[in-house]
Amino acid sequence: MGRNSARAGSVGPAPRQAGPLEDGALDAHLDAQLDSELAGAHISAAEELAGLGLWEEAYGRLRSAVEMLHGPDRPHPVRAELDRLRREHAMVHEQARRDFLTASYNRRYLDDRLSTLLDDPSVLRAGMALGMVDIDHFKKVNDRYGHPFGDRVLQRVVSELDAVLPEGCFCARYGGEEFALVLPGCDQDEAVAVCERARLRIDQHPWAELEPELRVTVSVGVAHSVSQPPDVEQLLMSADVLLYAAKGAGRNAVAYRRTCGTVALAGPAGARRDIPQPASVDC
Ligand code: GH3
Ligand code: MG
Ligand code: MG
Repeated sequence: MGRNSARAGSVGPAPRQAGPLEDGALDAHLDAQLDSELAGAHISAAEELAGLGLWEEAYGRLRSAVEMLHGPDRPHPVRAELDRLRREHAMVHEQARRDFLTASYNRRYLDDRLSTLLDDPSVLRAGMALGMVDIDHFKKVNDRYGHPFGDRVLQRVVSELDAVLPEGCFCARYGGEEFALVLPGCDQDEAVAVCERARLRIDQHPWAELEPELRVTVSVGVAHSVSQPPDVEQLLMSADVLLYAAKGAGRNAVAYRRTCGTVALAGPAGARRDIPQPASVDC
């Protein structure tokens, strides 16, 4: 804001004659008063923004307040402390959306993002796909090699899943040894191809590095939204139904529903017989 114009409106009603020295002192006094009022406004705005959970914006306002009071360039301990708090807050915020064990996104992040994605331009254009991934016979891995070993397998599975994700897509731990691949703006064919790449990578991962006889595979159900906006609950249900079709068809497979309604398996597993045909859950 231009200080001079602001000052013109805020000077008191009884201007008095002053010499050049006094003029300078008055200027400085008014400048300081304006800065302090502006800083107060920034602080009030920061409080309101923080109340709305808009932390980054609130920190920005506090930083502006410190600059008003202490100048933009001079190092000041309050500014340094603000910057430290902002970094700390960003870190805590990031940790709150991540799963502690695998560092993939957690269920809370998944739920939040699924609801906000409904307005995403790519979703409005091409809908949204979701792959529900479940590790095959994971209980046996724990039983044979122990729970801490199973944890390491989970971490490797997540890095393989992350490796195939296109821009704008993410992986979240849905619970236990189940992960959701959220693919906004992907059509059914793209989504099936991404999930089949993930399945293959996990199948071909050098698991013997961890244990000579270890083999890990996953089954995946891929659902694509048909309604606009997508019905998230139905998308999750549909992916889950297809996941169990992939399990029932012998595991280590990606199941999806063809346009005609039949359930099929991607890639070489497509040649298998006896693929379960559960009823469709429209999404
Ligand atoms: P399926 O192929 O039918 O999915 O068989 P499964 O053995 O994978 O399925 P089940 O539901 O019987 O077992 C899941 C196992 O996943 C049991 C549970 O102890 C394990 N699990 C869940 N969360 C964790 C975790 O954080 N760490 C480890 N190590 N194991 C976990
Ligand atoms: Mg499971
Ligand atoms: Mg499992």
